[in-house]
Amino acid sequence: MYSITLIPGDGIGPEVTHSAKRVIEATGLKISWDIVNAGADVYKDRGVLVPDEVFESLEKNRIALKGPITTPVGCGFRSINVLLRKKYDLFSNIRPVKKIPGIETPFKDVDLVIFRENTEDLYSGIERSTSEDSAEAVKVITRKASLRIAKKAFEYAEKNNRKKVTAVHKANIMKLTDGLFLDCAREISKTYPDIEYEEVIIDNMCMQLVMNPSRFQVIVTTNLYGDILSDLCAGLVGGLGIVPGANIGEDMAIFEAVHGSAPDIAGKNIANPTALILSGAMMLNYIGETEKADAIADAVSKTISEGKYITMDLGGSSSTSDMTDAIIEKILESKQINTVLV
Ligand code: NAD
Repeated sequence: MYSITLIPGDGIGPEVTHSAKRVIEATGLKISWDIVNAGADVYKDRGVLVPDEVFESLEKNRIALKGPITTPVGCGFRSINVLLRKKYDLFSNIRPVKKIPGIETPFKDVDLVIFRENTEDLYSGIERSTSEDSAEAVKVITRKASLRIAKKAFEYAEKNNRKKVTAVHKANIMKLTDGLFLDCAREISKTYPDIEYEEVIIDNMCMQLVMNPSRFQVIVTTNLYGDILSDLCAGLVGGLGIVPGANIGEDMAIFEAVHGSAPDIAGKNIANPTALILSGAMMLNYIGETEKADAIADAVSKTISEGKYITMDLGGSSSTSDMTDAIIEKILESKQINTVLV
């Protein structure tokens, strides 16, 4: 029996985390879910954004499945997502972007993984007004953080038979900060002579990705570029509804979709649950339940390629719960087939 923290979040968070929980349970895995929440809704009820039980649960279980949490634009509180990533040093933000058959896009094969540094850069939270009409933000890049994210990207490439790692930067302009990041990526690349290493400037990278995304396999980059490229890459494979993610540190991991709380569709039972379900599959891989993770990925893929029960963002008309039911059905079918074969 695993003990896992579940943070529903807000907006579409509660709907898609509920779907992911149901799908994971359908694999037969025994999980004791520790359900705790944070964010604006919690603040309204209890006057606190991140109650102590969230930290306690994370520190006890060291693993969580999390829905998106809204962050106010311009003013208001800082991002709870950034807070958790920094507090627990979840330095690797890993986002696999893969074409799923059945989703119409201009590209035949997209299969890349983004390794985004998750703890520093312009997300350092160091910002100040310098006068009524000007403000500045501090971009923090350190050798330690750059080396470890580059190492994770190369380790992943080696383990998963990926032939190339692309470091994305703007060191032509930010010579010290992005320059340091590139130095670190180069240093790590030298220890992996069998993996091709290339460097691409962020603006060129955006163009290359929308022209020929299949030329990329593993992308390693700083926090802000990684954030932006993640949404861009989601657009290459059918949108934010399908791209999962993980925030991984040395001894804790939080799994969550790339997408946010999608307030425009919240509470309507129309959000695509795929991204959070696949984040759940990544979580199962992380704990070594690879067969169950594969069963989930397979069920999602079959459901989407059949096209009968898919949500609006994928061109269908099914609700979140109908699509979830269809995925669960596929898992149960495959379990029956496996039982017969045994
Ligand atoms: P968003 O990702 O929430 O939505 C962007 C667009 O994609 C919207 O049109 C939305 O309807 C659509 N979309 C997103 N997820 C979808 C899904 N599962 N199914 C179908 N359509 C989906 O981005 P946003 O609107 O810029 O951000 C909303 C809020 O979420 C902001 O407060 C932002 O700070 C927050 N956010 C949180 C996280 C997180 O918790 N990790 C990540 C990103 C954004």
